[in-house]
Amino acid sequence: MTQTTETIFSKIIRKEIPANIVYEDDLALAFKDVNPQAPVHILVIPKKPIVNLATAEPEDAALLGHLLLVVKQVAEIAGLENGYRVVMNTGADGGQTVYHLHIHILGGRSMSWPPG
Ligand code: AMP
Repeated sequence: MTQTTETIFSKIIRKEIPANIVYEDDLALAFKDVNPQAPVHILVIPKKPIVNLATAEPEDAALLGHLLLVVKQVAEIAGLENGYRVVMNTGADGGQTVYHLHIHILGGRSMSWPPG
């Protein structure tokens, strides 16, 4: 999938459906994952509806960098001083289910490797 389409995250950005928002600025939103896979599981998304990393363009470079700095800030807010895992599921083989680019922050427990 390469085309931008309406997703559940578009509705969260527009506040049409509730989410547990932990951070917001002009470009990004962070909210708790509804189906947490760790004691802390937060999603960081751009407000711009980019499908995934595979469809990002050179013009998105600054936005992508900003999202990573939001990850750092949100991890600090969440108290993940012991570390955390950052994941971007991309496309079918990446296990992506919502086609609006998002960064998972997983923390609060020790992570194993390799992932499934
Ligand atoms: P992915 O499988 O990488 O596309 O991740 C999508 C994530 O979005 C999953 O971890 C879901 O639990 C999460 N998710 C789906 N709908 C919502 C929602 N309404 N609020 C919060 N998280 C959601």
